[in-house]
Amino acid sequence: MTGPLVPPGPLTHGTELNAVYAIARIVAETYDTEAGLDAVFRLSRTIFIFDVVSLFLHNEDTGQLEPSYALALGRGRAKEADLAWGEPAASEAYRSGQTVLRHEDAGPSVKGRERRRDYLGLPMMVHGRCVGGLVFGRFGGPSFPPEHIRLAEFVAWHVGQLLENRRMARRIATLEAQRELARMQDEFISTISHELRTPLGFIKGYVTTLMRQDTAWDAETRMEFLQIVDEEADRLRELIDNLLDSSRLETGSLGMTKEPIHVGTLIRDTVSRTKSAYPEMDLRMELADDLPLISLDPTRVAQVLDNLLSNAHKYASAGPVVIRSYMNNNAVKIEVEDSGPGIPSEHIPRLFERFYRVPDQTVNVRGTGLGLYICRKIVEAHGGEIGVTSQPGAGTRFNFTLPVHVLAPTVEGEGHDV
Ligand code: ADP
Repeated sequence: MTGPLVPPGPLTHGTELNAVYAIARIVAETYDTEAGLDAVFRLSRTIFIFDVVSLFLHNEDTGQLEPSYALALGRGRAKEADLAWGEPAASEAYRSGQTVLRHEDAGPSVKGRERRRDYLGLPMMVHGRCVGGLVFGRFGGPSFPPEHIRLAEFVAWHVGQLLENRRMARRIATLEAQRELARMQDEFISTISHELRTPLGFIKGYVTTLMRQDTAWDAETRMEFLQIVDEEADRLRELIDNLLDSSRLETGSLGMTKEPIHVGTLIRDTVSRTKSAYPEMDLRMELADDLPLISLDPTRVAQVLDNLLSNAHKYASAGPVVIRSYMNNNAVKIEVEDSGPGIPSEHIPRLFERFYRVPDQTVNVRGTGLGLYICRKIVEAHGGEIGVTSQPGAGTRFNFTLPVHVLAPTVEGEGHDV
């Protein structure tokens, strides 16, 4: 036996009819289940009397009926803390699939008429299946008359619709999330295959050319080809390293090996490396005198600086690039400022996401959109923050912080470095 699958037929007149219409409208228009239930039960209270209402739903994992919603009104409201919500009536309605009426005696500790408790249990139907029980409780009698039971069945049917709305909304959200994931995976595969294929194409082409038996290459040309092969192999390795780093950073399995390092030295080393990689770059350095020794992973922080400087080279090659560092509120602040084309403001919020690239700007520039994501994760693993300010046409300034230390109070309350 199951409960009613369609709303019970014509009910009553006047105020009841208005309430009934209002309930039906709420159900049709509401996707916020909690607010919908509140509204439906408050309206129900205008057409039949109850002191508590509760909803118990079957949990597939535990195999138990579990409370999912409860509201105390009327006499119930004053005693909310020690209310009995009528779980036995919910279980019985759920098991039998039928409306049940239970009379309980709250015991001698409850004085007067309110010892008497009547619970109306109704099977909760969603999508043709009984998923739980809805209970209306009334304290101090009289019990629920047949016309109130019919109204309660009508309300239960609509509550089932509210739960059905919720089920559909969740299903749509899951499907949308799955579709977005599939879209991102497709995009990822096409970006990555393109990025892997380009250096591989160069390597294969130049090696095949060098191996041709019918042509003798002079030493200079051979060296030029080998240099291209060498550079493209480096690019390939860098790409694979970035992919591995990004997936380890995503899962949190990339550990940081921290040691005390002088920030000024780290920046100077990076700058001299960058200058030899890009001799034509006008790279300037502005370092404060009081840069401290801090605990950091030198390889990873150097990776952040390399990334920001190589982006300045890739996207803002004309004009000077300044790397600047100074103390700012117990943290070292590092900035990389270029005078390139800048980044339109609508792209700024997504810039540090995995695989994000500014669409028009990157047509002729190779990249995967992993660099800034990796930078953010490394900076965050050091307790810092990364950000960017940019003015289209004037330039871009990336900045990040590395906290110097955290002060924890000792037993004597003096504080010590941790
Ligand atoms: P990639 O360089 O591989 O595309 P990044 O994560 O390093 O990936 O950078 C993300 C995007 O941010 C780039 O594609 C580019 O559009 C933009 N970008 C990064 N640095 C700059 C810069 N200095 N000036 C202008 N745009 C930049």
